[in-house]
Amino acid sequence: MTTTLNLDRHPCFNVEVKGKCGRVHLPVAPQCNIKCNYCNRKYDCVNESRPGVTSAVLSPVQAVEYMEKVLEKEPRITVAGIAGPGDPFANAFETVETMRLIREKFPEMLLCLATNGLNLAPYVDELARIGVSHVTVTVNAVDPEIGQKIYSWVRDGKVIYRGLRAAELLLERQLEAIKALKAKGMVVKVNTIVMPGINDHHIEEVAKKMAEIEVDVLNCMPLYPNADTVFESVHEPSREQMVEIRKKAEEYLPQMRHCTRCRADAVGLLGEDKSDAFRGCLSACAT
Ligand code: SF4
Ligand code: SF4
Repeated sequence: MTTTLNLDRHPCFNVEVKGKCGRVHLPVAPQCNIKCNYCNRKYDCVNESRPGVTSAVLSPVQAVEYMEKVLEKEPRITVAGIAGPGDPFANAFETVETMRLIREKFPEMLLCLATNGLNLAPYVDELARIGVSHVTVTVNAVDPEIGQKIYSWVRDGKVIYRGLRAAELLLERQLEAIKALKAKGMVVKVNTIVMPGINDHHIEEVAKKMAEIEVDVLNCMPLYPNADTVFESVHEPSREQMVEIRKKAEEYLPQMRHCTRCRADAVGLLGEDKSDAFRGCLSACAT
């Protein structure tokens, strides 16, 4: 299915179209299966690391109704994505069903997901069948010794892992999932949150490993410090530090430099978020 779609219309993956193609995030995934030390679940996810409450959570059917309304007012939307407010595959049924319904109703729409990757691999075949073309996985470390500082716990089914084993399991699953996505020909972006004193010395290693497994683009994102989190006192990296980190990482992978750290219910062009204007519409669809 993806072969018939024009994949160049995704503004996050193609900076050239960011002024004419927009995206909508459908907030259908409220649960999460890991605990990142920078995340405050009173806010939304996310994988994209930007605090701000999502104003509502939608069911898959409600997401389609919302999509219809959004397109009436904002026809420049070319991408329907799911980016929380938790993790799409901690809410796998809702995520897959939403993608399926959107594909059925809007065959031209690019489908996109952003996930921590823990529970992604079992769904890759189905996502490919539906025609999901773009997937973002947040990989903050490729060394579990570092990863264990970033994650408080990882939940696999009914088992909760902590410490080194949690970080090892998450990394194993992320690598497995990314390889499976690439084997299906999907476009894969990795988001890496840069946390000073935690993983800022390790980003080049992440870039190198992601290049080895054929990731398409790396998005190094500065930590957005959140109150009431383990990392609340970790400061945001400076602009100069980010420039330096991206320059080094670019030796291995193309860099995304126009990310606007969107909410889980973002809508519109990047940098011209209309989630405020669509709040009423979103809430009406959720009831
Ligand atoms: Fe929060 Fe997203 Fe991490 Fe889950 S994956 S803990 S929602 S930042
Ligand atoms: Fe694109 Fe960044 Fe927004 Fe995700 S957070 S939709 S990558 S601009």
